[in-house]
Amino acid sequence: MLVSVESDSHRTGMGTGMGLATAPSGYARLVQRAASAYVPLNVLVELTHRCHLDCVHCYLEDNHAHGAKPRELTLDELCRLIDDLAAAGCLFLTLSGGEIFLRRETLEVARYARRRGLAIRLFTAGLLLTPELISAIRALYPLSVEFSLYSAEKADLHDAITRAPGSHGKTVWAIRELVARHVPVVIKTPLMREVFPEYPALVRLAQSLGAAYLLDPTVTPKNDGDQSTCALRLTPDQLTALYADPALPVAEEIRTLVSRQRPRDPEDEVCNLGKTGCAISPFGDVYPTLGFPWPAGNIREQPFRTIWREAPLLNKLRALRVKHLGACSGCNKFSYCNRCCMWALMDDGDFLGGSSWACDIAAAKERAAGLPSHPTPHQAKMQQSSSAAPVSPVRCSF
Ligand code: SF4
Ligand code: SF4
Repeated sequence: MLVSVESDSHRTGMGTGMGLATAPSGYARLVQRAASAYVPLNVLVELTHRCHLDCVHCYLEDNHAHGAKPRELTLDELCRLIDDLAAAGCLFLTLSGGEIFLRRETLEVARYARRRGLAIRLFTAGLLLTPELISAIRALYPLSVEFSLYSAEKADLHDAITRAPGSHGKTVWAIRELVARHVPVVIKTPLMREVFPEYPALVRLAQSLGAAYLLDPTVTPKNDGDQSTCALRLTPDQLTALYADPALPVAEEIRTLVSRQRPRDPEDEVCNLGKTGCAISPFGDVYPTLGFPWPAGNIREQPFRTIWREAPLLNKLRALRVKHLGACSGCNKFSYCNRCCMWALMDDGDFLGGSSWACDIAAAKERAAGLPSHPTPHQAKMQQSSSAAPVSPVRCSF
């Protein structure tokens, strides 16, 4: 069974976390080659923002209407998009929501993608799955069907997170049914302070089912900049306990990383934004990643391939180097920090600046490794500027 701890790319599920993801080395080499040639290997398409759950940590601000939204991409538009993605080199297509099965066309989209040779991953809460739908999913041979689960046994706790009574039982039923039919399942837990004590039992549940398990301590602000969800994040003690847990595959790696404290080379690339994948909204906007405040273009106005090759935003992101960053560029924690430009922007208001949340995680890794933890350049800067600018989701200094 595969157990992973993911600390970034939470929204895309693209798995690029600073050496913590346990992707096979063949896949890692593929991603490396795709990044140097700017091939959109992994693309996430949100089929809808509609959802019948109302999770406390959800980053969508427009997930409550259940009726079809007139601007959502049609089946024809989605099929044309898949043609374009396949031609551009995409291999892995993630269909996400909202709840993807609130759309009647979802299966048709998935079948079309399989016919075009794409491997697919499906993100769902599973509440709408039926035995017939499960058979149809099985016939797609998906790479994975992925569910969020917040407790193995405490249905009330899970239902309090989703704010949907009965959701735990239905999600667990769907997981068991898929596993019984040999469909690869990933159980994921966005780790929040209230559900932190649950993860060992969730690991055991996944183990007993033969499902993969992914822990993610990332909780982001909402797309509209509302930061109330950040109060759900793990406490410093919980973060330390997570990274020190010998039962997880990260503990040894953390010790190795932390013992190599050094700043990154100024000419190093910052991240994979704009290089190996992107996210496409239900309305056709192409984003470097989910939650990015500016689209690179819209597929109703330009073909995907033109946007991917020519959009000024994507080309700016591809040119980003460590030397362009502010406080982080000289930070000796950079080699084990999960800093993400999106976190920096959404948490502290500057795309090229530091991220307080990333600083907290880096400090937790140091404590987990038994090393002293010193303030970071970003923390020192934040302390100095008592009149810090208000956080805005639309500020960018490049
Ligand atoms: S299932 Fe996903 S989209 Fe739906 S409310 Fe929960 S986090 Fe949001
Ligand atoms: S200042 Fe904080 S966010 Fe920036 S590299 Fe250092 S630990 Fe990471």
